Amino acid sequence: MMQRAVAVVGGGIGGLAAALALHRRGWRVEVLERAADFTELGAGISLWPNALRALEVLGLAGAVREFGAVEATGGVRDRRGRWLSRTDNAELARRFGHPLLVLHRADLLRVLREALPADSLRSGSEVSTVRDEGNRTVVVHRGGESRPDLVVGADGLHSAVRRALWPAAAGPRYAGYTAWRMVTEPLAEPPREGAATWGRGARFGYTALPGGRMYCFATATLPAGAASGSSESESESEYAELLGRFGSWPDPIPALLAAVPAGAVLRHDLYDLPPLPSFVRGRVALMGDAAHAMTPNLGQGACQALEDAVTLAHCLDTTPDVPAALRSYDLLRRPRTQAVTRRSARLGAVGQLSWPPAVLLRDTAARLTPTRATLRSMTPVLGWTAPGDPVTETENESH
Ligand code: FAD
Repeated sequence: MMQRAVAVVGGGIGGLAAALALHRRGWRVEVLERAADFTELGAGISLWPNALRALEVLGLAGAVREFGAVEATGGVRDRRGRWLSRTDNAELARRFGHPLLVLHRADLLRVLREALPADSLRSGSEVSTVRDEGNRTVVVHRGGESRPDLVVGADGLHSAVRRALWPAAAGPRYAGYTAWRMVTEPLAEPPREGAATWGRGARFGYTALPGGRMYCFATATLPAGAASGSSESESESEYAELLGRFGSWPDPIPALLAAVPAGAVLRHDLYDLPPLPSFVRGRVALMGDAAHAMTPNLGQGACQALEDAVTLAHCLDTTPDVPAALRSYDLLRRPRTQAVTRRSARLGAVGQLSWPPAVLLRDTAARLTPTRATLRSMTPVLGWTAPGDPVTETENESH
């Protein structure tokens, strides 16, 4: 049989994972990435058990674990630093097969990229549009045109693929709050456990990365319109803003802020995507943030993109007809990811409460909820299993 070809638009976590899943199943892949290279500014990222299961199917869970940190315990604190709830990573792993792993995004992207043939990665290849021509789909990009058997739109929140083929779909909606992310310098004595501290209309979280560094994140209810923090001067003014807002929060937050290097603060307003009526059209499938951008309150956006990737490859493997396989993918992925998106939005609304009586009620409810109940309530999200028999992990699988 002739080798089938796929064009993956976007070389983020979702696009690289989809390219790899399809490459492993015999597809000829090309990843069309807008950026001039595949480097990543980002900060840390949490991978929950469901994501590690997807990485297992890709044969990469072991490689990714090497770059990650697993904290024994963590939890949520109130504005005065008192614990509201605790999490136990060993219990999480017992229940769901894997712990919560935190690593630098650049490491995750590098592991994914290195598992792909180098000549499949095309940086500087911004896609301007995608046309559906019945039995072929045309992808127009800076380097020319591609006519693959399948197009995967993995081009993120402002997806050009979505705009081209879902012109009537509503665009991203602002969640009402903004987020900062940063990684500290290595600390001689890093905090022994991570925590998210909930204030009024603001939160500050931190968790360990390997090598004594800490990944920190913060949110504040603010109008949309944040700068990205991607230039040094923007980053410095965001750092000043963070100090003003969180510099007097309970320990160890001031010390963590003091250990953030100049120019290392990223800021992004948070959006999610109103539910699409379908993730597929003909030979084109949307995935990751292009399909279901969600707020980061559950730390699930990239985890869901990894699930999308292995599910898509499975559907195409078991159903040779591409449009029919994509319809199965849509049925498996849309209800699930849209439910996770709604859940994440609800958690964010609670986390950002600012009216004092509502904050008191929230904190009391969190304090009274047993850890077991919290873990149990996460089963629909974390208890995901890959469709079909998960391939036994084969590290260094040939490519
Ligand atoms: P993206 O990462 O957006 O990648 C899209 C790629 O497409 C980019 O490389 C872009 O350059 C490229 N592109 C865009 N347009 C074009 C075009 N026209 N042509 C070619 N290429 C194009 N998720 C988690 O699982 N755990 C977490 O802890 C977590 N924390 C988060 C914290 C914050 C503050 C935020 C904002 C998000 C967080 N997420 C987290 C969500 C996660 O970052 C995203 O869900 C994930 O990165 C989506 O991956 P993606 O590949 O779909 O899209």
